[in-house]
Amino acid sequence: MGFEPTVTCATTVFKTVAFNRSAIPPSGGDFTITECHCEGEAEAISSTHNDTIGQTWYNLRAMNRKYHVWTEGCQMNVADSQRVGSALERLGYEFTGTAEDADVIVLNTCVVRQSAEDKAYGRLSSIKPLKAKNPGLVVNLMGCLVGIRNDEKLRARFPYVDVFSPPSDPGPLVAFLTQGEARAHESARTSNLSAVMDGEILLPERERGRLVSAHVPVVLGCSHACTYCVIPSKRGAERSRPAAEILTEVRALAAQGVKEVTLLGQIVDRYGKDIPDGPSLAGLLKLLDQVDGLERIRFLTSHPNYFTDELMDAVASLPKVMPHIEIPIQAGDDEVLKNMRRGYTQADYRKIVEKIRAHIPGSSIATDIIVGFPGETEAQFMETHRVLDDLRLDSAHLARYSPRPGTVSERNMADDVPAEEKMRRFRVLENLQEKIVGEINAGLLGQKVEILFEEKVKGRWRGRTPTNKLVFVESEDDLHGKVLPVTVTWTGPWSMQARL
Ligand code: SAH
Repeated sequence: MGFEPTVTCATTVFKTVAFNRSAIPPSGGDFTITECHCEGEAEAISSTHNDTIGQTWYNLRAMNRKYHVWTEGCQMNVADSQRVGSALERLGYEFTGTAEDADVIVLNTCVVRQSAEDKAYGRLSSIKPLKAKNPGLVVNLMGCLVGIRNDEKLRARFPYVDVFSPPSDPGPLVAFLTQGEARAHESARTSNLSAVMDGEILLPERERGRLVSAHVPVVLGCSHACTYCVIPSKRGAERSRPAAEILTEVRALAAQGVKEVTLLGQIVDRYGKDIPDGPSLAGLLKLLDQVDGLERIRFLTSHPNYFTDELMDAVASLPKVMPHIEIPIQAGDDEVLKNMRRGYTQADYRKIVEKIRAHIPGSSIATDIIVGFPGETEAQFMETHRVLDDLRLDSAHLARYSPRPGTVSERNMADDVPAEEKMRRFRVLENLQEKIVGEINAGLLGQKVEILFEEKVKGRWRGRTPTNKLVFVESEDDLHGKVLPVTVTWTGPWSMQARL
């Protein structure tokens, strides 16, 4: 394919890397490149190059080759997509915002609700004609639609997809591009999902020095068995990344200009429980609080049963850890909570909120709620309404129950709340929450708050308060990545305005 470097190497790996997909398994080890006749497809590589295969990726340039990533779903997927971008740029690919211009298209999917899954199918069908027009195009389906089990049905249904990757793992795509289809299959099958997270993160080029706030997965998978939730079966069992690896990664991000990291886990408070002698989340926060250049640390999602006093103390005492807790209640009624297998009661949830507020003054709390869970009566729904009304939380992510194939609730409980009724309940809570947050934010009018500024959008700088509230400031100055005090001049339920 125009790229024929003369390689004195047992594996002739350069002949195959990224250009010619004949599957020669790399054995690793040293090799020497004496000459390169790449004719524009690859940049000349240093004439003598004793290196391991992994490191050669940095040196190889698939010139003029572009990748496009489409991401749906949670922050974990955003972080996963960043890692795919990083891996592809190591191979020499450049980002493009236009799928039509890309040589590699990655669709990073979510299936937490039917609506998200439908978006993935929609995107897949829009890619099909591109593949028909350009058979050389590489299509990579990634994330929770694929899951950790290799789904043969998916392969049969979408024959134009070249590579299927589980969540959090760019490995199969890299294997496909460098070593061919067989290795990609092998990589997907044996994926341990953390192999590629080595802490040596290099942000995609367009984000280096630009990205202010980054997500860092610290707990992969989930072993909790909420009856409605498909995540454990798609992302696998709970496993924590080693603290040293996370520390390396956060340092690397800070060195690339990142000012804020949000540590991610389905139940992030359970961080470290599977690592003997490893730190807890509180311990990890203490380590990260020392990272030079980093201004702010956040973490999500918490669970009422695992939010310890030690963690509360860490949030209260560590200067870089922000006083914002995301702790879903999901439902207010005890029977519904039991049917969801959440493991706590409404009273337990109230207690934890009270405790957070007492321990962490000035903190904000966000929650998640599902309306219309199987069997949820009007009276049970009103318990959710009552608890939200009483607790006056800063944010509520609302969702209508969506039966997910293979989950306990889908198999054993009838989805018996009609769609219109789910919508009505959703709207009732939405209105309640809008009123509450509007009132909470109005209390900030005229107050001084510290903002970390992220980017300029339509002439206004966008940033967040320590409590994670969105604030816009008009300024001609370059506020990018700066933490500055501002005075709030206008408030609404979804955002505020302020002046320097
Ligand atoms: N691990 C986190 C978040 C999981 S997914 C937690 O334990 O809360 C994000 C949110 O999607 C959940 O908090 C829940 O509110 C919602 N969700 C999950 N499964 C759902 C389903 N089957 N139908 C509707 N919403 C769902």
